[in-house]
Amino acid sequence: MSSFAGRMKEYPTVSLDRFDRENLHAQAYFLSHCHKDHMKGLKGPLLKRKLQFSRTVRLYCSFVTKELLLNNPKYAFWEEYIVPLELESPTQISLVDEASGQKEEVVVTLLPAGHCPGSVMFLFEGCRGNVLYTGDFRLAVGDASRMEHLHSGSRVKDIQSIYLDSTFYDPRFYQIPSREVCLRGISELIGNWISQSSHHVVWLNCKAAFGYEYLFTNLGDEFNTQIHVKNLAMFKKMPEILSYVTTDRRTQIHACRHPKDEEFFQGNRLPCGGTAADGTPLRIISIKPSTMWFGERTKRTSVIIKTGGSSYRACFSFHSSYSEIKDFLSYLQPVNIYPSVVPIGRSLQDVTQLLRTMCRKRSDEAAFVYKPLGVLKRSRLQRASDGNTKRSTTTKTQTCTDRVTEGCSVK
Ligand SMILES: [Zn+2]
Ligand SMILES: [Zn+2]
Repeated sequence: MSSFAGRMKEYPTVSLDRFDRENLHAQAYFLSHCHKDHMKGLKGPLLKRKLQFSRTVRLYCSFVTKELLLNNPKYAFWEEYIVPLELESPTQISLVDEASGQKEEVVVTLLPAGHCPGSVMFLFEGCRGNVLYTGDFRLAVGDASRMEHLHSGSRVKDIQSIYLDSTFYDPRFYQIPSREVCLRGISELIGNWISQSSHHVVWLNCKAAFGYEYLFTNLGDEFNTQIHVKNLAMFKKMPEILSYVTTDRRTQIHACRHPKDEEFFQGNRLPCGGTAADGTPLRIISIKPSTMWFGERTKRTSVIIKTGGSSYRACFSFHSSYSEIKDFLSYLQPVNIYPSVVPIGRSLQDVTQLLRTMCRKRSDEAAFVYKPLGVLKRSRLQRASDGNTKRSTTTKTQTCTDRVTEGCSVK
């Protein structure tokens, strides 16, 4: 659950994933994905009013996020203020102080976050350095090294700060089986069950949120079937998923919901009330996708756990594990890391402390030259260590306005 307050130290005039309180004064908004804990204040009347009186304030997000957001009538007023951006295509955005007319330019690139449909990370590049806001993410080991926009040529970009999805940044969550491994386990369980007869059905006990679509499309392909859902409205704008879901109850895989669905299941009923045409009682198993984690030394990791006579939990994670986050951070070696989430059972202090070890060491820092008179000159020596983690070796002279240079964290 994100506790990010909305603003980054380097670019404090933009707000991300928070739209209330001091964020009401932002010059641009960014939404990483459509999960409620990242949308606080997004439908607030104060924000709505501010937009009506502004010429320049916009909300930036991916095309999919735009569609998902506007699909909900409560957010329909955003339509004229949303600017969807293509993935992996750097876009220059002007941050304008409408009172004084002062302008700051920043280049933003959306990177895939692997968390749910439309989810992205935002890379900001401007006068105050390169900053990466991850939103919520699930990246596998090695994914960062394959992201072109985190590199200049063959070198890793010099990242000043990362605002991190630290949900599982705790050694307890060392391993979380990969998406593919989890899917294989779930497929096997479903295959073994539904192949017994047409009266053997499966209920996927998924929460009402975006993120399970990966499961629906893969199971749909594997078993050449559609998944029963309560309604299609939330999938209307996702054509690549729409063909995998149905409101026809005569299917063997269900992900439908009912306010009392757990009770229904106890009574051997599907939440949708679906029955066999010939009256034969259905044989139902439930599978609840849940996050499972394993310590560093655990060798065998089962992704399916039987929790009752006909209920199972199956491993499924929207967030990166400890080892995946570590891989990501040690590849990028940012100067600062700010956690957006406090792992369960930990304090903000604990996670901050743990993250400190992943920040670039002072001894790795090359000389920075700070000129307060509007010119920020930065020179950087090539890191002589591992060839894969060399920083960009540019010597840049960048002109900033006085306002921009003020408070720069570059020393
Ligand atoms: Zn999320
Ligand atoms: Zn159903």
